[in-house]
Amino acid sequence: MTETNSLSHTDVCIVGAGPGGMLLSYLLNQQGISTTLIERQPHLHKSFRGELLNTDGEAILKKHGLFTHIQELGALPLEQIQYWEEGNILHTIDPDLNKGERHVGIHVPQDHLLEAIMAQTDNVGPLHQTRFNTVMTGLLRDKDRSIAGIHVRQNGVPAYIKASVIVGADGRYSAVRKHAGLMPEIRKHGYDLLWARIPAPAGWEPAVRMASMDGQQLALFSQYGGYVQIGWNIPEGGYAKLREQPFAPFVGKLVAAFPCLADSVAAHIQNWSDFVLLSVESSYSARWAMDNVVLIGDAAHTMTPTGAFGLNAALEDADILSDLLIQMAKDDFRSVDALQQLQDIRGTKVQQQLARQIEMESSFQQRYESFR
Ligand SMILES: Cc1cc2nc3c(=O)[nH]c(=O)nc-3n(C[C@H](O)[C@H](O)[C@H](O)COP(=O)(O)OP(=O)(O)OC[C@H]3O[C@@H](n4cnc5c(N)ncnc54)[C@H](O)[C@@H]3O)c2cc1C
Repeated sequence: MTETNSLSHTDVCIVGAGPGGMLLSYLLNQQGISTTLIERQPHLHKSFRGELLNTDGEAILKKHGLFTHIQELGALPLEQIQYWEEGNILHTIDPDLNKGERHVGIHVPQDHLLEAIMAQTDNVGPLHQTRFNTVMTGLLRDKDRSIAGIHVRQNGVPAYIKASVIVGADGRYSAVRKHAGLMPEIRKHGYDLLWARIPAPAGWEPAVRMASMDGQQLALFSQYGGYVQIGWNIPEGGYAKLREQPFAPFVGKLVAAFPCLADSVAAHIQNWSDFVLLSVESSYSARWAMDNVVLIGDAAHTMTPTGAFGLNAALEDADILSDLLIQMAKDDFRSVDALQQLQDIRGTKVQQQLARQIEMESSFQQRYESFR
């Protein structure tokens, strides 16, 4: 099939309607910069994703007047971090009131976050297009080999989008990153993660609950809407072997640590397929920008779920990049070197967070035992 279909000509083409891409589109439209946001999925509803907002992410959403719209759809502040053993609380960590903290994280369902930002973007006016079922397949190059946009398949049909700047907000397996040759260094962390979501029992207080299972971390996150998200670390590559073992004793350990979950676990976690496996890795791209292409969020730096940094880091990147692009718009995006500044501004903090994750992961068991 020949590719004759030009979908749009836009200032900024953003690949990926996750938290980073969605926020960036909103911030640019507000300043009169046109965007085309493409998303490979048919809608905003995703599988398991980072949904815990920390104070950094909260501050950005408040700064841009978005937080109240998200709250209207529903969000749940978590009151405490608790360390548990066999039905008893060993230790608690409260918000640091001296630092102005009022929670230890806010659970925001992914669709509430994305829908609220998209609704506000629609309110700004006609400067944006969001195209679902549209997957980026390559970079569009002019005759002189300069990058003029991207190739896509929309509903399976080849097409292209012309743009002055291309933003890869397309997550941990970024196609923009691959086509721009901005390859990351990937790091394994020695564990994989089993996820499950079950209804919370009556009276379940909103908190993060941690326990140790065979030396690995088990974390429970209270969720808006009356759910508990379970994140259970298992040895890296160990799931196939685990599945050879009987299921009941495995899940029995969860119930032993949190007896009040017994009924919900019995009703909703009945076999291995009630868990979703996440292969855990982090990555960091040595360069986040090349010519008129720039990466944000997981595309530039994938984090592990530890410490719940990833979603918030994507929002921070979008916030900073919007400032740079607003400046660049003044000379019609000719000063593309300015895109390098995103990494100059954000790189150190991101690398500190990646190092903090490794430190938190390696010290978990020792910390847990100190509470006994
Ligand atoms: C299991 C799990 C739990 C986590 N828990 C937390 C947490 O509690 N708190 C936290 O802060 N972070 C957490 N994270 C991390 C967080 O989810 C990510 O850091 C965050 O979603 C990154 O946002 P993003 O916008 O960069 O990318 P993403 O959210 O990954 O969005 C990228 C988007 O790009 C789309 N896309 C991909 N390729 C293409 C293509 N070729 N063309 C078009 N579209 C494309 C994808 O469909 C997706 O919608 C967790 C991650 C995982 C996997």
